[in-house]
Amino acid sequence: TTVSVGQLAKLLNVRLRTLQRKMEEAGMQAEMSYDYVLTSDYAALLAEEFGRHPIINDEAAFDLYPPSPHPNPQTLPSRPPIVTIMGHVDHGKTTLLDTLRSSTVAASEAGGITQHIGAFCVPVKTGSDSESTIEGHERLITFLDTPGHAAFSAMRARGTSVTDIVVLVVAADDGVMPQTLEVVELVRREKERGKIGMVVAINKVDKPEADAEKTKLALLAAGVLLEEHGGDVPCIEVSGLTGKGLADLVETLAVMADVMDLRAEQDCPTVGCVLESRIHKGLGPVATVLVTRGTLTPGTPLLAGTSSCSTRRLLSSSAHPLNSVGPGTPVLVTGWKSLPSAGDEVLASSEADIKRARANRQRKRELESVIGGVEAINAARKADKEKEGKERTLAKLKKARSEQLEGEGKCVVPEEVEKTNLRVIVKGDVSGSVEALMGAIEGIGNHLAGVTIVSSGVGDVSDSDVMMAKAAQAIIIAFSVSVPRSVQASASQDHVPIYSSDIIYRVMDDIQDRVISLLPCTY
Ligand code: GDP
Repeated sequence: TTVSVGQLAKLLNVRLRTLQRKMEEAGMQAEMSYDYVLTSDYAALLAEEFGRHPIINDEAAFDLYPPSPHPNPQTLPSRPPIVTIMGHVDHGKTTLLDTLRSSTVAASEAGGITQHIGAFCVPVKTGSDSESTIEGHERLITFLDTPGHAAFSAMRARGTSVTDIVVLVVAADDGVMPQTLEVVELVRREKERGKIGMVVAINKVDKPEADAEKTKLALLAAGVLLEEHGGDVPCIEVSGLTGKGLADLVETLAVMADVMDLRAEQDCPTVGCVLESRIHKGLGPVATVLVTRGTLTPGTPLLAGTSSCSTRRLLSSSAHPLNSVGPGTPVLVTGWKSLPSAGDEVLASSEADIKRARANRQRKRELESVIGGVEAINAARKADKEKEGKERTLAKLKKARSEQLEGEGKCVVPEEVEKTNLRVIVKGDVSGSVEALMGAIEGIGNHLAGVTIVSSGVGDVSDSDVMMAKAAQAIIIAFSVSVPRSVQASASQDHVPIYSSDIIYRVMDDIQDRVISLLPCTY
């Protein structure tokens, strides 16, 4: 990429003359004219000069921020708890969520359809308890169903962890497994950062080989103190398949939420978080927003990252149009001008302020990518230098050692092997699942072979994905998206492998196999 001197000055938000003076100092007199085209290398170095002493005037730094915290939080109305279901693979998370979701819809509308929007609400059926009822509404529990804890980690990494309570699902026929322990550890770390609750759901108790007691003891051994063992973690025996115990689970979550005393403002500008986003055929870019503060209504201008939205329609997970959405409630928002990313903070403001903040965020992002370019170039140069030095000593060592061994009549030390990486292009249905998948497969491999993600995106596999894969000698993963027949044809012509699946663990297994096949054979 290239940039002209004039463009660079604009990008850096400095006067042309200022930039030219810097160039003069650097001995670049010949390249100083307004329309001289600089290579990215030079542009990046110049940006660094300014990046070190950012020249930002107040107007250019304009951004939006959430309204300051309410002075008397204990006086605010209560809100539904946000619940995430986690646990080992195949322990029944999806089944549990499906049963919870479908029983809710079945209860609210005969033959109603559910759409997957990344979260849904379940009403709490309480007897005489009316005191803690949210004004005018029934009590609700919001379940997030973004895939597994990879999405959870992605959000937490952006500081937008929204979960109040984790339901740890443990299958009673399988017991405590590695990912069970990961969740226990995750909740422990999360607890240090703030309040988060945990409920254990011992699942699959309908199975004859289920051993709930053994599973509970294994949890105790893992440091989870259940109520029945004198601790504070509630434990419910359930079956996601038959629905047994689910009412109990919902009730327990409601009680726990009461104890946690979750409250949020309803009369302030809307704040929220993007759970998922995708292009909807017909509705265009749509995003599931979890409102955390304020009340969202159609017509509200929103900003998430650098995507703006003039909220057109608000749709519930059962495709119902809504007139207003309060804290703790997920809603599908239409009217986005571009696709926001999962984990982005959503803020409401006037259209003019959103326009200004968006322009400045975009400029900042461009600047960061120029400065990022400088850092990448410098890091690469440094690594090259270090590698040179290391290789020299390594080569010397090896030579000395093999001479010694040869002298002793033993074998020669094998040549150093280069690390090879499987190159991957990831396409997925929603940004949350693309991020989750990327997070999961990036960890595959060792010091000899691993995974490099060449590119990623939301939407069907396209011809340009195939072209890029061919150029980069990459494989394409189609995660819950389709591959049009014409694209399939060009992929097979170009010998570009496309792996389609909608099960994250299958994809991981396949990638693992491919990475293993890249490993050099052992001696
Ligand atoms: P996930 O990987 O944790 O999402 O697990 P799934 O929900 O996909 O369930 C894995 C397998 O266990 C599926 O074959 C389910 O039908 C089965 N399963 C899930 N819950 C139950 C249950 O409560 N009882 C029984 N018998 N099988 C279950």
